[in-house]
Amino acid sequence: MTRTDGDTWDLATSVGSTATGVAAMRALATKQPDPLIDDPYADALVKAVGLEHCIALADGETCVEGDPMLDLNRMCEQIAVRTRYFDELFIAAGADGVRQAVILASGLDTRAYRLDWPAGTVVFEVDQPQVIEFKTRTLADLGAQPTAERRTVAVDLRDDWPAALRDAGFDPAEPTAWIAEGLLIYLPAEAQDRLLDNITALSAPGSRLATEHMDHRILAEGAGKRIGEWSRRVGSSLDIADLFYTGERNTAGDYLRGLGWQVTVRPSKEAYADHGFELPEEMAELSGDSGYLSAHLK
Ligand code: SAM
Repeated sequence: MTRTDGDTWDLATSVGSTATGVAAMRALATKQPDPLIDDPYADALVKAVGLEHCIALADGETCVEGDPMLDLNRMCEQIAVRTRYFDELFIAAGADGVRQAVILASGLDTRAYRLDWPAGTVVFEVDQPQVIEFKTRTLADLGAQPTAERRTVAVDLRDDWPAALRDAGFDPAEPTAWIAEGLLIYLPAEAQDRLLDNITALSAPGSRLATEHMDHRILAEGAGKRIGEWSRRVGSSLDIADLFYTGERNTAGDYLRGLGWQVTVRPSKEAYADHGFELPEEMAELSGDSGYLSAHLK
């Protein structure tokens, strides 16, 4: 564990570099002949960060022969399933009249620039200051225009982010669509509970939330170690598992149910099947009961 309370980063270091890694997968998936996702800014963002192994991945030049889990086609499928799951939460919420969205741990997420938001939608992006500043500046330099009213909230999600969100104009009386994609494993157990408490306190009836459903038992049993080995094999100088907070924690789904949310879990196998893919056997073994979770506050 290389993490400390109050640690900070940019997009090339520590937890920030994981956002660049995920964006590299989106860039690669976007470049496929019949792409399953279209993130037109991912490639330029990854190149602007400048991490060599992420650029190689975005360009499909990562050499990972002999490890089926690092097959580039599989990576494209994996990121497409994930991206589309979270896209869908926003699309469905918008169709139901929700006009306030919050992207927690926004990293290099470009949904505020690439989704077709209904008129009048305000999208808040929350992440650490250096992450927010870099993406905002790089996309402005590229001439990218948000497709909704985008507001940034530069704050640590272990701190008093609700106050910062309100200061940015968030209205807790309005229903909100929240996503926390690729975040929970980077938070200590009690910070995850506090995050879900805060989301709930800020959520008017009709709000939705999507995040990962993690099988922590599997992570503790060695999946984290395997994920760390892969990060090394694709050329990262970090063992990504060192950034995780493993160990006992509440599952997000159980905790949210206790707070009054109606929770639906989509196991990875079914999320893959939704797009006509088969979850690779090795990944099924590693992910256990993991998948995606959406929750609705009636
Ligand atoms: N959601 C983005 C995506 O899926 O492309 C980024 C995911 S990346 C794996 C993890 C993100 O969580 C990074 O952008 C990182 O800065 C953010 N993050 C993790 N812990 C955080 C914290 N305590 N405060 C603010 N942001 C945090």
